[in-house]
Amino acid sequence: MYFVKTPAWLKVIFNAYTWHIRTKERELYLTFDDGPHPAATPFVLEQLEKFNAKATFFCLGKNVLEYNAIYEQIIKKGHSIGNHTNNHLNGWNVTHDEYINNIDLASTYIKSDLFRPPYGRISRKAGRTLLQKNYKIVMWDVLSGDFDAKISPEKCSANVVNKAKNGSIIVFHDSQKAFKNMSYALPLVLEYFSSKGFVFKSLKRN
Ligand SMILES: [Zn+2]
Repeated sequence: MYFVKTPAWLKVIFNAYTWHIRTKERELYLTFDDGPHPAATPFVLEQLEKFNAKATFFCLGKNVLEYNAIYEQIIKKGHSIGNHTNNHLNGWNVTHDEYINNIDLASTYIKSDLFRPPYGRISRKAGRTLLQKNYKIVMWDVLSGDFDAKISPEKCSANVVNKAKNGSIIVFHDSQKAFKNMSYALPLVLEYFSSKGFVFKSLKRN
C-alpha cells in the first residue's frame, strides 16, 4: 500500500525532510530513482532533452560503479544527482551503522548532499545523523507508481497528471521493473505539463 499523493499530516510529522518545493511558479521537480540503468536511463535522458527538462537522479552507488559512463552522461546533461544508498537498503530492516555506512560507501561515487531513502523508509535516528552530516533528505509529493506491476501505464500517467501541482516533487524510476509504466507515462507527463506552461527543474543541493 502506498499514497499516490503524500498526505499533509505526514509532511508535518517529518517536517525536517523536503516533500515539495514552495513556489507559486509553474515548476515541477521530476526525480528518477534506482539507476543508472543501461536502457532506462538513456531513454529518460532523451525524453527530458526533447522538452528541455531538468531532473534529479537518485542513484545507487553499485549502479554508478557498474554503469559509470551513463552516470557521467546524467551529469553532463546538466541534471542533479543524489544518493539513494549503495545497495538499496530498507532503513527499517538494517542497523543504524549499517545504513549510514552504506550511504557513506555510495558517497564515494556520488558527490551530492541530496539523499532519498529507498522505499521512503528511514529511522528517525538515521534521519538525524544525515541532517547533521548536512544532507538534504528528499521525499516526494507525488508517486507515479511506475514500479507497481498491478497498475496500467495509463493509471501511472494519470497519477501524475491528476496530482502534481506547482512545486511538486514527482517520483519515477529508471529501472527494469518500472520501465513499462515509466516509458509510457513520462512522455505524456512532459507533454501535458509543458503545454500548460510548466518548467521542469532539478533539485538544488544545500
Ligand atoms: Zn529506490
